[in-house]
Amino acid sequence: MHNSIKKYEDICNSIKLKLEAQKISKLPKIIAVSKTFGIEKILPLIEYGHLDYGENKVQEAVDKWTKIKIDNPNIKLHMIGKLQTNKVKFAIKIFDFIHTVDSLKLAKKIADEQIKQNRKLNLFIQVNIGSEHQKAGIDKSELVNLYRYCNELNLNIIGLMCIPPANEEVEKYFNQTNLLNKQLNFSELSMGMSSDYLKAAEHSSSYLRIGSSIFGKRI
Ligand SMILES: *Cc1c(COP(=O)(O)O)cnc(C)c1O
Repeated sequence: MHNSIKKYEDICNSIKLKLEAQKISKLPKIIAVSKTFGIEKILPLIEYGHLDYGENKVQEAVDKWTKIKIDNPNIKLHMIGKLQTNKVKFAIKIFDFIHTVDSLKLAKKIADEQIKQNRKLNLFIQVNIGSEHQKAGIDKSELVNLYRYCNELNLNIIGLMCIPPANEEVEKYFNQTNLLNKQLNFSELSMGMSSDYLKAAEHSSSYLRIGSSIFGKRI
């Protein structure tokens, strides 16, 4: 069996065990974050039948996934990186989910482009949950305002996405994001990476974004 498949199965099992022990029945989805990895590294998991993949750069996604998505129309591609407004046109075409809506300007651009292309993606609002200066994501104080604007634009916002501050107690931030997510009545939640996906799953994350634990170290 290919190494990435073995790792993927181990991750699935660890999540199942953890959640079963806590009597949580709804299992999260795993987004296999394939950024930087060549298609030969990803193909075994595609052939195995895994459908959700994450990329953080639009051009890389176009180059890697255009043909594969035609051959495998059930694959869902997730944009998990910072999205520049001048790339939105290409992003709407290739991605099925965008996890990083974080400004009014970006929301408007996505809405305009979706109308042009007659597409409707599933979107997450990225919240800067640790209020870090350098970090992407909308400030907590502006979240409701952005969400209202997205509703006016008829965008399909399905949940919040966060990346907690590094080297800090992530559970506090997962808990806060989960509470905000519930207050806004969202059905999905995007949090958790290789280092903290079990904790994220315990805090009701429904999309775990896992890269290096599946594909190995990025260089
Ligand atoms: C790269 C990346 C991940 C995956 O990180 P790993 O530590 O390799 O699992 C998850 N989320 C975002 C936003 C990323 O950029």
